[in-house]
Parts: sequence; C-alpha cells; structure tokens
Amino acid sequence: MRTETNVLIVGGGPTGLLLALLLNRSGISCKVLEKLSIPSSHTRSIGIHPPSLELFGELGIADSLLAQGVHIRSGRAFYNGQERGRFSFSSCPPPYDFVLAVPQFITESVLREALVAENPSCLQLGCAVHHVTDTGKSVDVLAVVNGTEHHFQAQFVVGCDGKNSVVRAAAGMEFLGSDYPDVYMMGDFTDESDLGAEAGIFLAPSGLVESFPLPNQVRRWVARMPQHVEEPSPEQLAGEIIKRTGNHFDTTSCSMISSFRVSKYVAGTFYSNRTILAGDAAHIVSPIGGQGMNLGWLDAFALSNAFASVFARVDKESDAGKPFRALTRYSDQRKKAALTAQRRSELNMWFGRSHAVGWPRSLAISAILSRPIQPIFAKMFTMRGL
Ligand SMILES: Cc1cc2nc3c(=O)[nH]c(=O)nc-3n(C[C@H](O)[C@H](O)[C@H](O)COP(=O)(O)OP(=O)(O)OC[C@H]3O[C@@H](n4cnc5c(N)ncnc54)[C@H](O)[C@@H]3O)c2cc1C
Repeated sequence: MRTETNVLIVGGGPTGLLLALLLNRSGISCKVLEKLSIPSSHTRSIGIHPPSLELFGELGIADSLLAQGVHIRSGRAFYNGQERGRFSFSSCPPPYDFVLAVPQFITESVLREALVAENPSCLQLGCAVHHVTDTGKSVDVLAVVNGTEHHFQAQFVVGCDGKNSVVRAAAGMEFLGSDYPDVYMMGDFTDESDLGAEAGIFLAPSGLVESFPLPNQVRRWVARMPQHVEEPSPEQLAGEIIKRTGNHFDTTSCSMISSFRVSKYVAGTFYSNRTILAGDAAHIVSPIGGQGMNLGWLDAFALSNAFASVFARVDKESDAGKPFRALTRYSDQRKKAALTAQRRSELNMWFGRSHAVGWPRSLAISAILSRPIQPIFAKMFTMRGL
C-alpha cells in the first residue's frame, strides 16, 4: 500500500499531535504515524505553561484542558524546614497567569480528539516506522501496520518520535549531550498536605523536594535522591518526604511511582535535506522545571509557520536546490531556545543539590521571593522568550 501527503509526522505524542493540528489549520496535508495502538496512560508530564495555553486558546482547545487541570497560581518555599515565603505567577499576563497541572495522557487525549474531529484520517495508530529514506527531493517511509508493510511518500518528514528517534538516526543527525549526576524519585498520591492548589518547593539538607497539585485531590511528590533507585517503592518515597518536609500521605493511594535519571541532549541541526526534527527528538531537557513538552509545542508552532511559508513558495525554492530559508531559520532559532531551556533547568537542579546548601542558595531563595525579582523569576519559570 502507498500513501502520499505533503508532510509525514513520525510520532503522535504531544509535539506530533499539535504540529498536525496546526498544519491542518493551514491547509497543508499531513499524516501522523504513531506506533502505539493504545495511547499511553502514564501521567508523566504535568505542567502546561502560559505560552502554550495562549496557543491552545487560539486553537480553541484551552477550555477543555483548563476544565480538567489545576490552576497553580503560586507556590510556597521552605528552607531547612522553615517556610521562607511565597512565589506567584500573578505578574504573568492574564488570562493565563498560572501554570496548569494536568496529566500528560489527558493533554494528549485533548489534542488527539481535536485532530481527529477535524481530520479523521490524519492519525494512524499502530503504525511503527522502520525506515526513512530522504532523497533530497522527497522522503519515503516504510512502516508496519498490523504486520503489513505500508509505504508513505511525502515532501517532508518530521521526526516527533522522541529521544530515540528513528527519523534522526536515518538522517544521520548528531544528538550530543550527557547525563547529569542528579537522580530523582517521583510519585502521585492522594493529597493530604495543606498546600491546596499551590506548589511546594522544599530545600532540605538531604536534597530538594518539589510538590505539585493534580486533579482529583492527587499530589505529585518529586525528591532528589543520593543515588538511582532501581526499584522505587511508595514507602521509600514517603520516608524521604516526611523526613525532608514533614508531610505524610497514605502509600496505598499511590497511582504512579518511578525513579529517573536526567540528561541533556540536542541535535546538531533540526533540519537537513527533507528531514526536520521537533520535540524530544530534537532536544532533551531535564524535567526539573517542567519544560520539555512545552518546548516541543513551541517547536511545532514555529515549524508550522515555517511550513506555511515553504508551501507558499515551494516550487521556486526547491528548483533552486537550496535549503529552505524558513526551515534553516526554524532550526537555528529552536536550537537556541533548547539550549536556553537546558541552562534554565540546570539552575533549577542546582537549587536542589544538597552540596549547594549554604549562603549562596539561601541568598538566591531570598532574591527569588523578593518582590522586585519575582516577575523575572515568573517569566523565566513560565518559559517566556523561548
Ligand atoms: C518524569 C517526567 C516529568 C516531566 N514533566 C514535564 C512537565 O511537567 N512539563 C513539560 O513540559 N515536560 C515534562 N516532561 C517532558 C515531556 O514528557 C516530554 O518532553 C514530552 O513527552 C515530549 O513530547 P514529544 O511528543 O516530543 O515526544 P514523546 O512524548 O516521546 O512522543 C513520541 C511519540 O513517538 C512515538 N514513536 C516513537 N518511535 C516511533 C516509531 N518508530 N514509529 C512511530 N511512532 C513512534 C512514541 O510512541 C510516542 O508516542 C517530563 C518528562 C518526564 C520523564
């Protein structure tokens, strides 16, 4: 079987789904190939930042997400067991002067439903891409659907297929980076704290704890650990949380527990011949600070604009055999944004390191909580300028 389209998007995660929605709205034909037949139900990413909410507002899908998430307008900071103050997002421009907390599987389902409602045949689930051939003039993609080979041809392929991208590998694009020494344990539990709809940041001598409200009276707890925990248990996380924060919760209410290492990677280029990268396929940012998914959406937005200008003038540019200027600009600008996001997440992680306890960290916390600095902190944390 053979299918032709303008843009093939490999990967139907948050980045691929939003890109498809945006291209559909621009009248550019596309197809999303997603290897999973049944979407993942993992909570994974929870923070949706104001620039993404503005974009979703323009697309008409913000209301559905807003109704299903917790609006985090402020947070409380604790240092060595003492509450040091509150930080707030009230300086962010309304109406989105908050960070929305919603489990990733709900976010993905809202994007998926919006896409399928507009173009029912755009998303192909259970379609695993095995080979990508970029001829410089077009791309051929071989995928397997229900054990049967299927060929796709398009003018461009976009790798939205995550960290281990087959699209990136097929194009021979570099992915350079390294692991950080930081390791974390994370779990979702029934909320028994007095934090309500606020975030909590606890800087304890034994390491950082972050805590965020989730819908349905659930709360996420993330603790920096001295070493990687191979088999995380709700009891072990609960022990760390009570020791470092004084908060306790019922371990039998645990709906998710995991431990993870963090790393940073970025592709050498996000554009080569007819292959483009977006989202985690292009960059990995530490989840501390919650930027990865939002960065992928900002890529999708920039790329949809670049494609709009490419398809408006496609014959002229491709006849000349030169790289498309709009896509080169996309690559340069989004790589710069990814490197900035990596630096911001490094600052977040520095706060959490136990050896960073002491006057530099205490001073930094006082600065963040001080009124003149708060708007700058809020701007950085909510991903303005990326
Ligand atoms: C613990 C944790 C917490 C996080 N919290 C946040 C947060 O609060 N805020 C935030 O912004 N980010 C957060 N992130 C990061 C966020 O989860 C990722 O950045 C985001 O999922 C990237 O989306 P993506 O669509 O680019 O890639 P992915 O989510 O990896 O999606 C890739 C898709 O491609 C599909 N695929 C892969 N290979 C193929 C193939 N060969 N053929 C077809 N399909 C394929 C996969 O099945 C998948 O559906 C967190 C990450 C972790 C690990």
